Amino acid sequence: MVSVKSIKLDSVNNAKRVVLKVGSALIVDPTTGSIRESWFKSLVKDILFLLNKNKEILIVSSGAIALGKSELGLQNKSLKLSEKQAAAATGQILLAKAWKSIFEEIDIKCGQILVGHSDLETRRNAMNTRATLDTLLKLNVIPIINENDTVATLEIRYGDNDQLAARIAQLVEADVLILLSDIDGLYSHDPKNSPNAKFIEEITNISSDIESMAKNTKSNIASGGMITKIKAAKIATAAGCNLIIAHGKNTNSLLELINGGKHSIFKANLSPLNAKKKWILSKRDKLKFVKIDNGAEKALNLGKSLLAAGIKSNSNSFYRGEIVDILSNNDTFLGCGIIAYDSDEIEMIKGKKSTEIKKALGYKGRDEAIHRNDMVIN
Ligand code: GLU
Repeated sequence: MVSVKSIKLDSVNNAKRVVLKVGSALIVDPTTGSIRESWFKSLVKDILFLLNKNKEILIVSSGAIALGKSELGLQNKSLKLSEKQAAAATGQILLAKAWKSIFEEIDIKCGQILVGHSDLETRRNAMNTRATLDTLLKLNVIPIINENDTVATLEIRYGDNDQLAARIAQLVEADVLILLSDIDGLYSHDPKNSPNAKFIEEITNISSDIESMAKNTKSNIASGGMITKIKAAKIATAAGCNLIIAHGKNTNSLLELINGGKHSIFKANLSPLNAKKKWILSKRDKLKFVKIDNGAEKALNLGKSLLAAGIKSNSNSFYRGEIVDILSNNDTFLGCGIIAYDSDEIEMIKGKKSTEIKKALGYKGRDEAIHRNDMVIN
């Protein structure tokens, strides 16, 4: 067992929020089709080490289809989509049970989140997914995330958890995404076929050369090869999140990695916060706006959120999750941000205190019309 007192890998040491993706090939023994128990136990201990260093951890866990296949005796068959979905339905229960019981041993709570493509790609739903993930983290619960494989059709599936994990990292503004897989990183050529393949430790720009290095090195039971990892790296780094690929099959691999073990890192060249600001600015649409009073303007300049109480009027064409301009009383552009309500809801709650929102809408909405973390001020 590796023993470390501190985290030697800077990108993990300096991170507050970490997304960890574990591939099917790690969780499931390909010959028996069952959970690799001792590996699982060691991983959870490594995760505890990170939790004790005040990191927030979200886990994207594959393995549902692989576990379900063996449960249903379909292991050696190539499956149709509907059969894969049946396997996922059966395997996901086993997967969740395994995470639950292993975390219970160390007194940590975990929660299952199954997401579909639309939960992350449509802004309204993405906001809801993020709010749930944030709340779980606040309550010290580890989110265990997988794709909702059972209902997704081919066209609307991620299909591989590398890209799903990158979308999650982007959504929660994670500092680092660790892909633990059966590959130890990026090579110039497929190391299985080319003995002179060069290991690439650090990638600061995903150039076409880097992309062409990604041969599809599919393992038997995982969906993602190097190509999906490069796609994930593009999503993560654009969101300001570093992405690490490391071999995770041995016990305590995570601890070994954070102690400086072998890995490839795709470096983001901006912080998650700046990436988000850039994204918000890029989605501006001048026809969508709220006009605010002087008190709210002062509050925004002090770094506070925009409450409904400070809104005087609004355009009538936006939906929750869209970017709206924030205008002063005399139409000066003050900034812009992600709006938490549809325009017709803002119509009903503008000028109202947070305590009056429930009465106006008929349900308890959010206090902030635009949260300060979702805002760019001029
Ligand atoms: N969502 C799939 C599962 O749980 C895994 C996809 C992948 O291996 O990347 O089986």
